[in-house]
Amino acid sequence: MSDILLSVRNLSLHYPLREGVLKAVDDVSFDVRRGETFGIVGESGSGKTTLGRCIMRILNPTSGEVIYRGDPRGETDLVGLSDSELREIWRQIRMVFQDPQSSLNPRLPVLELIGQALRTSEGLSGKALADRVAQLLKDVGLRPEILHRYPAAFSGGQRQRIGIARALATSPQLVIADEAVSALDVSIQAQILNLLQDLQEQYQLTYIFIAHDLAVVEHICDRVAVMKRGRIVELADKRTLFDNPQHEYTRSLLDAVPIPDPRLRTRGTRQPVA
Ligand code: ADP
Ligand code: MG
Repeated sequence: MSDILLSVRNLSLHYPLREGVLKAVDDVSFDVRRGETFGIVGESGSGKTTLGRCIMRILNPTSGEVIYRGDPRGETDLVGLSDSELREIWRQIRMVFQDPQSSLNPRLPVLELIGQALRTSEGLSGKALADRVAQLLKDVGLRPEILHRYPAAFSGGQRQRIGIARALATSPQLVIADEAVSALDVSIQAQILNLLQDLQEQYQLTYIFIAHDLAVVEHICDRVAVMKRGRIVELADKRTLFDNPQHEYTRSLLDAVPIPDPRLRTRGTRQPVA
């Protein structure tokens, strides 16, 4: 089995404008290794969300390939798949969103928010469904008694834990987290990042972790791609990128990082970048 789970090849999404074309994603290529956390960073508008959505086929790229090797039957180019084929892929590749407030339907209790996918894909209901959801809640550090509560009852951090449990419900191989901690207080961010790391081991997950905040990326990622205007301008191991950035844009991103929060720092010290 290849140690590469996902290969993005020459992926582009171009939006025609009245004058010219906006290259939201422009000829992007990279590999994601099984079990790693692959970071995508860049300032707002650099194309990170568009890239994540093209990989998931929530958006249709203009050109390129997304080769997925999570299926034991062989590799698949997600770009060519029909809607019904995508439904199976969407169980194996899941997303965690920035804002759990708006991504969790306020009218549904936790049991349904997390359990819906299990109802439809595995036909679970009743006690079997409640038991599975309760186990997922425990795994994300929430009490199983909250099954019948609604999103409004929870804090931002708790809601994001519910969002993570929902992503894990279908036992995915790959989780794409788009600014998953950006809306949270820094102390809560650290808790959620640590939870994601624990779950990665427990569930043997591969992550694509999208963020504009380099401190967050430094905490959790193994390798990092830096995006600027739809293109990847630098791709390196996390330590190499932070200690010895090659591209001027990466250096300017690092310079823009405010005083590092000690709670988000793990190992190593950042070298002066000037
Ligand atoms: P990021 O997530 O890095 O902030 P986005 O992927 O959201 O960046 O956006 C990348 C670029 O594509 C931005 O310039 C944005 O304005 C543009 N864009 C996003 N969606 C559309 C759309 N539906 N039509 C036209 N332009 C879009
Ligand atoms: Mg975005």
